[in-house]
Amino acid sequence: MTDTSVLEVYSADDMIDAEFIRHVLAERGIQAKIVGGYLQTIIGNLPAMWTTPRIWVCEEDFALAKILIDEAKTEQRRRAALRKEWACSDCGETNTADFEICWSCQKEDEIQSSPHSKQ
Ligand SMILES: [Zn+2]
Repeated sequence: MTDTSVLEVYSADDMIDAEFIRHVLAERGIQAKIVGGYLQTIIGNLPAMWTTPRIWVCEEDFALAKILIDEAKTEQRRRAALRKEWACSDCGETNTADFEICWSCQKEDEIQSSPHSKQ
């Protein structure tokens, strides 16, 4: 990968998002580079344009990377929608998606703790 042939394909919400996308691309053999992001943890409160992690890929991978990112984000949103709220199977209390264990009885949420697909 040379600096002259890389393009920004995605602007991430945060480093978790950036790492997620990089992983998605790596699984399909696309080498992606995260630019920015890490500055946030080192320096602190830089303007957003300096700290927003961006994904860069080779020009030749750009089109496919775009498609893969779109697919991954769609799937991520679908999963997020699925786990908006969940009812505890033990005590019946309703938990928001923030909780991975029941706030009331500490039982693990079965949907969220079950392993995601390995494809
Ligand atoms: Zn419970």
